Amino acid sequence: MTAISKRLGSVKPSATKAMTAKARELKERGKNVIALSAGEPDFDTPENVKNAGIEAIRSGKTKYTPVPGIPSLLKAIQEKFKRENDLRYDINQITTACGAKQILFNALFATLDPGDEVVIPAPCWVSYPDMVHLAGGSPIVISCSERDGFKLRPEALAKYITSRTKWLMLNSPSNPTGAVYTAKELRGLAEVVRDHPHVMILADDIYEKLVYGGAEFSTIAAVAPWVYDRTLTVNGVSKANAMTGWRLGYGAGPADLIKAMNTIQGQTASHTSSISQYAAVEAIQGDQSYLQRFLKEYEARRNLVVNKLNEAPGVRCSTPDGAFYVFASCEGLIGTTTPSGQVVKSDEDVAMFLLEEAGVAVVPGSGFLMSPYFRVSYASSEDELTEACDRIIAACQTLV
Ligand code: PLP
Repeated sequence: MTAISKRLGSVKPSATKAMTAKARELKERGKNVIALSAGEPDFDTPENVKNAGIEAIRSGKTKYTPVPGIPSLLKAIQEKFKRENDLRYDINQITTACGAKQILFNALFATLDPGDEVVIPAPCWVSYPDMVHLAGGSPIVISCSERDGFKLRPEALAKYITSRTKWLMLNSPSNPTGAVYTAKELRGLAEVVRDHPHVMILADDIYEKLVYGGAEFSTIAAVAPWVYDRTLTVNGVSKANAMTGWRLGYGAGPADLIKAMNTIQGQTASHTSSISQYAAVEAIQGDQSYLQRFLKEYEARRNLVVNKLNEAPGVRCSTPDGAFYVFASCEGLIGTTTPSGQVVKSDEDVAMFLLEEAGVAVVPGSGFLMSPYFRVSYASSEDELTEACDRIIAACQTLV
């Protein structure tokens, strides 16, 4: 189509959204499909948060707000960072937007010029490379092997930094692997960045609250104070507070960067919904005891999925420390033949086979820039997960 800009040429629609749409289409045609493809909690938004949103509507808090967000929300975020992360920010160092996604995009759009590079450890969230393209930069993807827990090592980072590197993107706990960086590992990466004062760090902490067992969450600006001045710490209420549809994310970092991000937002979305902002004040500073229940359930589901997937011939996975994903290797399925005589050549073939034969939607590793793997989201009920895994096991048993 001639009307579409050249900029969009290198941007793909999200692989997770594509798989979820395909699953929905099959469901609509009457097929019994279990979708484990979406990165979305199945829990309902907590009552106290819903009530704060309803109260905002009732009391007429339905008008435009300041671009960075309402003062009470900025204050709640400031206190959250101090209380939970030992990070101190002035109010003009904080902004909010339509999800962490919009914060990330605003930051990239505010800073990237053509030729600027963004270092992205892979496997990575599907949207990072495409956002970088959209903002006019070049993603530099570093593969982080399963042997290293899918985590970036300082030696690898050092090799990929150039004079054009603008950002290092970090995501812990990680989508898609659930890997959690320790404070020591983050300090190791920050040591490398110390020698390159032009490199900024984007710390995507959206899964901060979802860590299990003995794993502990750390964020780089807190554990490596020498990069505080050049780190944008990103978070939001989507995952921990089951508020994906409310679209509320936030970021904190250098005041000049936040100001530039606000300029972009002021000329585009203006701000996220006023109602969501009032609800987010409650989500961030109100009662969060529901989180204990979420964590307990997620942990049980994670264990169930890991145990079951390891029973499937050709599939192998270890136990991730955080988020709500399992990233399973399907190397053992590559080269096998389906009952209908098709050779399985890639993780995309595996995902398609599981969708068509088992009626289970997963996302191929290629969408996260690492193959041959597939991602299962365990943000579904135990019954659904049991049924889905049993179907995966049965389907894999038919491959020869
Ligand atoms: N960052 C990562 C790694 C994610 O997986 C997601 C959502 O899937 C986001 C950011 C976006 O979150 P939000 O709903 O706040 O835009």
